[in-house]
Amino acid sequence: MVKKKKIGSLIVLSGPSGAGKGTICNKLLEDDDSLNLSISMTTRAPRGVEVDGKDYYFVSRDEFEKRINDGEFLEYAKVHGDNYYGTPKDKVLEYLNNGEDIILEIDIQGALKVKDVMPEGIFIFIMPPSMRELRDRLVKRNTETKDKIIERFKNAYKEINEVTKYNYIVINDEVSSAVEKVKAIILAEKCRVDRIEDFELNNEEELLHELLVDMR
Ligand code: 5GP
Repeated sequence: MVKKKKIGSLIVLSGPSGAGKGTICNKLLEDDDSLNLSISMTTRAPRGVEVDGKDYYFVSRDEFEKRINDGEFLEYAKVHGDNYYGTPKDKVLEYLNNGEDIILEIDIQGALKVKDVMPEGIFIFIMPPSMRELRDRLVKRNTETKDKIIERFKNAYKEINEVTKYNYIVINDEVSSAVEKVKAIILAEKCRVDRIEDFELNNEEELLHELLVDMR
């Protein structure tokens, strides 16, 4: 009677640096085999144990710019300074057209660009519990220099205001409860009426009659 659309869901998890979107994303992927992660491309250098093709595709600036000109990105942005980050378009479309879900963990500028071209996506803003907590998390993370941390914090302070452009907000005060909320959002989205491709209306009087006869 009801035929669901075969297209997968595009889930965009975004928010300011230090809000915990990476941790939430990893937990979601760990818990749900049916979710796929979009691997971004970047010009920044790999950190520590990061692996090319798993954490990011690490490329040179020339190569990134060539790919921009070739229209290979769904979105791209310069994040925290001069490095490019971008979402390769082909993988995203491949998953969606195969009916599979794909999750993008990207910054706010990028998420809003995706929303312009694919408004049917599920846009989730991961919000830190407070600006003070966000500052402490950025400092504790210890992956950047002090100047970089200050820059990220200043960006985050302004970017929080973009939350009104998203469909959902999840406050990350505790990771496990934030993960449960994101799972609930994804589940609810799958039940939306506009994900039904074909619905046979109950307008056959003959069938109604037949079913009623059987009841007697
Ligand atoms: P990091 O350098 O710490 O791995 O990431 C820095 C920021 O870039 C994070 O906020 C992350 O979400 C964002 N980011 C990662 N991949 C992409 C992408 O493909 N596009 C955009 N716009 N941002 C990204």
